[in-house]
Amino acid sequence: MRIFIKASYILTMNGKDEVIENGGVLTDNDRIVKVGKISEFENKEYDYVLDDRPNILLPGFINTHTHISMAGFRGFADDKDLMDWLNNYIWPAENRAVDREFIRLSTEIAIAEMIRTGTTCYNDMYFFEEITAEVSRSIGIRAFLGEGLIDFPTPSFKNPKDGIKIAESFIKNYKGDEYIYPTLCLHAPYSCSKELIIEGFEIAKKYNIPIHMHVAETKSEVDIIKSRYNLTPVRYLHSLGIFEHKFISAHSVYLDDEEIEIFKEYNVGVCHDPQSNMKLASGIAPIVKMVQKGINVGLATDGVASNNNLDMIDEMRTCALVHKVNNLDPKVMSAKEVLKMATINSAKVLGIDEKIGSIEVNKKADIITISLDNFHLLPYYDPYSIIVYSATGLDVSSVIINGKILMEKGELKFIDIEKLKYNANKLKEKLML
Ligand SMILES: [Zn+2]
Repeated sequence: MRIFIKASYILTMNGKDEVIENGGVLTDNDRIVKVGKISEFENKEYDYVLDDRPNILLPGFINTHTHISMAGFRGFADDKDLMDWLNNYIWPAENRAVDREFIRLSTEIAIAEMIRTGTTCYNDMYFFEEITAEVSRSIGIRAFLGEGLIDFPTPSFKNPKDGIKIAESFIKNYKGDEYIYPTLCLHAPYSCSKELIIEGFEIAKKYNIPIHMHVAETKSEVDIIKSRYNLTPVRYLHSLGIFEHKFISAHSVYLDDEEIEIFKEYNVGVCHDPQSNMKLASGIAPIVKMVQKGINVGLATDGVASNNNLDMIDEMRTCALVHKVNNLDPKVMSAKEVLKMATINSAKVLGIDEKIGSIEVNKKADIITISLDNFHLLPYYDPYSIIVYSATGLDVSSVIINGKILMEKGELKFIDIEKLKYNANKLKEKLML
């Protein structure tokens, strides 16, 4: 199937930041095969035309850190400290209610929300990830997934040894898959023993897959790790040699200059979750400094329990605003820079920038359009500004992943919305028992 997508503006997000007015993109199966002016395309080249102009076409958003099957927890316990929130609300509720059915229903809701708001790839850490993989694959969204390893019993395993077994068999099942990219997920330095971290590190090396971990998220984490090991979280992990392997570091709020240098030296990718860090009052990550030092920073929502949505447009706007006010400098975090963070730079963090993250020939056809046919987006001056400062996730019009149209003109395909609404209430009943 060859699809021709017409656009008022194409934001290629390629190395030259090319913008093409009145442009077109041609896909052939899973790939982009031609990008140019509409006038350069001929009728015989394609089987189907997707035309939702006036619009902006760009690569799909890449959410670098989330826990999508926490969708059932949306609004369940707000306005708490992170440790109180985890220890007294989230973890007990997970043990009470999270099972295979909970994961399946939550995953379906979250994927619908992600596609509706333009996310075409996400990086996830949670439990029963084989179910998340199954649902992601059957709908057709790209996903980096790993079973979240942690010291204590979880809904999917009784002890870390069993967790490791589940994680390893997941990796074996999905290594080389078209849609699912296995990762080795360690929850955090304070919730994983040194032995578990080292064992995880060995598995990641054995299968050559990235490690994904929450690192230096809160001040209290720094205090815990200092009291246990007399080192900060980043220095502690560095002392274990773990950064020598491909490492995806979520949050990373508490990093000093020397630790930023360590991340730079080992090319550690950072997932920036500004809304979660604000909602849990964790702090503001030194992202401007990291970007200046040349660290790869991608954007992320975290799970909806601490956000409370998976809308990357909303997240971009927050990201731009929080760093401007934090630095008392409106010039930092421009709309273009933030949009790069949510697309090509997120792809770099996950190590998949050869395949996705920009609109270029030979890349995978992971493409979205944003409708400009609405008064709150008028008049048009700068397409980057429209997306980051004026649009909302619901302005996303069409979504193509791996060459397959999953949403056209705001209409989700392959997803039964009424069933999702019914299931959301079922999840609430499960949690409130
Ligand atoms: Zn997280």
